[in-house]
Amino acid sequence: MASERFILALDQGTTSSRAIVFDRAGRAVASAQKEFAQHFPRPGWVEHDPMDLWSSQSAVAAEALSKAGLSSEAIAGVGLTNQRETSLVWDRETGKPVYPAIVWQDRRTASFCERLRRDGVEPELARKTGLRLDPYFSGTKVRWILDEVDGARRRAEDGRLLFGTVDTWLLWQLTGRRIHATDATNASRTLLFNLETGDWDDGLLELFGIPRAMLPEIRSSSEVYGEVDGRLYPGGSPVAGIAGDQQAALFGQTCFEPGMAKNTYGTGCFLLLHTGGEAVASENNLLTTVAWRMKGKTEYALEGSVFIGGAVIQWLRDELGLVGSAPEVDRLAETVEDSGGFYLVPAFAGLGAPHWDPYARGAALGITRGTNRAHFCRAALEAIAFQSADLIACMEKDSGLPLKELRVDGGASRSRPLLQFQADLLGVPVVRPTITETTALGAAFLAGLAVGFWEDREEIRRIWKEDTRFEPARGEEAMEPLRAGWRRALERAGGWERPE
Ligand code: ADP
Repeated sequence: MASERFILALDQGTTSSRAIVFDRAGRAVASAQKEFAQHFPRPGWVEHDPMDLWSSQSAVAAEALSKAGLSSEAIAGVGLTNQRETSLVWDRETGKPVYPAIVWQDRRTASFCERLRRDGVEPELARKTGLRLDPYFSGTKVRWILDEVDGARRRAEDGRLLFGTVDTWLLWQLTGRRIHATDATNASRTLLFNLETGDWDDGLLELFGIPRAMLPEIRSSSEVYGEVDGRLYPGGSPVAGIAGDQQAALFGQTCFEPGMAKNTYGTGCFLLLHTGGEAVASENNLLTTVAWRMKGKTEYALEGSVFIGGAVIQWLRDELGLVGSAPEVDRLAETVEDSGGFYLVPAFAGLGAPHWDPYARGAALGITRGTNRAHFCRAALEAIAFQSADLIACMEKDSGLPLKELRVDGGASRSRPLLQFQADLLGVPVVRPTITETTALGAAFLAGLAVGFWEDREEIRRIWKEDTRFEPARGEEAMEPLRAGWRRALERAGGWERPE
């Protein structure tokens, strides 16, 4: 009898590398996690050491296998998922990075973006890529490295340097420096990828001054890219799935049909709505992105994010000292019926989609003599839900797809009052699955499908199981006044900071 086999998911996040071994039932049988250093060389700059990313990731892979007591032969496939947009450039021969990885949060290219915006290129760029002209995406980061590192542009033009997002860097290392490739989801976050042609865009490469020779080959999100080098763990196993973290979570939540959406409630919130085989352009400041590419077919999603999600809970705890822990926020919030007309707008760093107001700042409104700690906690949770609901309203408008339910994960999805309010606000059920490690699970699913570990999406759909369902409990008449109050509070918080 053949012995049992498993899928290894590698999840390279912004602050830590994780590895999880999944069995055929989609259960996590072992996992390992390792944090790595964050570097902030100047205000607004964020870097990672590429060797830290790789060494922490390979270490946790070996550790997870060892915890599960598995040899490399027991691994049917490896799936990769990663912090998106973070950009690396390294030497093809020596493997040496020419500069640290520039992390997605890094703002050093803001003035370059501003210049391009003044040149009027944003509309065409948005049409081609589905993105916005913002330092967040990879294109301007790569350009910065080519401009600022001595000799880099010449070496890149000579074909001696390689560019990659984090998936590409890890794949190259895992395959013993043989495979230089990315998947379509990661490519779609670079500002260099044309959604219509599904390939790198020569016009955009020219705009950013990036030689084609340094770009990875764009492959699908579920196929065998190559084998793990024999000297590594799990040596000989096929690397068979790649997707950026948010897309992997969408897959892990089995949002396979147009109109299905997931929200990850972490420090910020990331919402993705599957829109099917057509890329839907947003008229409400959302992003259009590749959901995944499989068997030659590309599916798309609309994406929006909330800058301050669970972070508002941390703020109540760490800055205000109002509570000792996140669960205490939930307990207190549940002691009051509602926020008593009190609104908290956590626009600490401006507002993202659909408002895009960098000058908005946090505001607390509607305070009366009776406002207390519990109201603060409740309003904080409600603010996370309001911001998410605003994004969903835009997604529905852009796509014409009415949301049927919202699947949720991430640290703050542990909060019952948050999810209940979210359901009340959306008027559709909010559903939390049994496995909330949806990012790693999605990468495992993509790899497992490519190697026949799982048959098809139908089988995977059966693995995804509902844990808790929050049904909308309050009617529209109860919710509309609250929504109106939120809108008014948003108006007051907008444009607070004066530009220089
Ligand atoms: P990230 O991946 O962004 O680091 P996580 O998914 O680990 O984030 O989620 C962490 C966030 O979840 C924190 O901002 C924290 O405040 C919030 N959080 C954790 N537990 C709860 C809870 N029970 N209620 C509300 N928020 C919570």
